[in-house]
Amino acid sequence: MSFIESDEQKALRAAVSKLGERFNYVDYVLPRSRRGEPLTELWNEAGKLGFLGVNLPEEYGGGGAGIYELALVQEELAAHGAGLLLVVVSPAICGTIIGKYGTDEQKQQWLPGLADGSKIMAFGITEADAGSNSHQISTTARRDGADWILTGSKIFISGVDQADAVLIVARTEDHKTGKLKPALFIVPTDTENFVKTPMEMDIIEPDHQFTLFLDEVRVPGEALVGSEDAALMQLFAGLNPERILGASMAIGVGRYAIEAAVKYAKERTVWKTPIGAHQGVAHPLAQAKIELELAKVMMQKAAFLYDSGDDFGAAEAANMAKYAAAEASIKALDQAIQTHGGAGLSKEYGLAAMLGAARIARVAPVSREMILNFVSQHSLGLPRSY
Ligand SMILES: Cc1cc2nc3c(=O)[nH]c(=O)nc-3n(C[C@H](O)[C@H](O)[C@H](O)COP(=O)(O)OP(=O)(O)OC[C@H]3O[C@@H](n4cnc5c(N)ncnc54)[C@H](O)[C@@H]3O)c2cc1C
Repeated sequence: MSFIESDEQKALRAAVSKLGERFNYVDYVLPRSRRGEPLTELWNEAGKLGFLGVNLPEEYGGGGAGIYELALVQEELAAHGAGLLLVVVSPAICGTIIGKYGTDEQKQQWLPGLADGSKIMAFGITEADAGSNSHQISTTARRDGADWILTGSKIFISGVDQADAVLIVARTEDHKTGKLKPALFIVPTDTENFVKTPMEMDIIEPDHQFTLFLDEVRVPGEALVGSEDAALMQLFAGLNPERILGASMAIGVGRYAIEAAVKYAKERTVWKTPIGAHQGVAHPLAQAKIELELAKVMMQKAAFLYDSGDDFGAAEAANMAKYAAAEASIKALDQAIQTHGGAGLSKEYGLAAMLGAARIARVAPVSREMILNFVSQHSLGLPRSY
């Protein structure tokens, strides 16, 4: 692993940064978010430039690079306040799972569109009664001839209004033991009896969350991704990219916050020197910068391990990176607001408007506490409490 990025990676970073500048937070993202409108132009442009599919296989229209590069794309966009939540679900989770376990037909049908952004796939695992305990999900899939019939509900599913399909995590009955086991299905959003209802969230963001009701939704046999018997492994394949991308988005947000704070701290003078000369203002920003850089190093380690095929090593690093990035980014944003004084809570800077969206990283795709549980058990060998 090298900390010196290749020329291609540097060029990618510069090109994405340029796009982020064009679709920056204050001029583009913030007004859209306030109106609750998706960042469609940015999404389309990023897709056209090949940024959304950098991690997907070249033979299916992707860039043939890794999760490192997709994380780099997300970080640079978010550093302009223009991170794309659906990058976490569409190319990172769904693209990875289909790329690794999908049939040739599924790859042909979905990957080129996920790569150029013309198709979007949401990801639905969370259920109201199961919450963090995804072993308890109760959406079921049963065979009916060659088809599958899905019944159940999901909650907090992001971007279903923009998506062509949702990768639904359901459960099938093991014919030998009668036990339920997970299975993944591609369910087009226009399927009969698939009902999406927007959730009323209190976050200023361009994307929306949905409750899904699947009432005897019929999908063909080909909707099943990979093997009916190995879905747990398939699901795990999506978890590391999900956490790494969540981390990279948080790191970008933290970078945006620190940059805004530093700019303001250099310009604003209320005594004899700019406020940034006061250590009470400078030190918390320096601390935020250190914590963000540490989180970024862990994210890069996770991406490197994942791209090298070390799934187990990547799992620990990806969890740690997501934890550290969320905490560092929320703290950086809070400090940026403090640095701006009253202006930090004004509409002009839009920093306070970012708080809800930044805080998503502490809860989703996996909560801070569940990461601490993971580290307690897997890294420290402590007993499990639940
Ligand atoms: C904006 C947003 C977007 C989302 N997008 C998606 C999406 O696209 N697809 C999708 O499937 N899901 C999505 N989610 C759902 C998200 O993954 C869940 O909210 C998250 O996993 C936590 O589940 P929960 O909300 O049910 O919390 P709960 O499981 O009810 O937990 C509540 C609190 O208890 C804590 N807790 C629970 N169990 C334990 C334990 N054993 N030990 C210690 N603490 C514990 C949790 O950490 C949390 O703080 C999204 C959520 C949000 C907020």
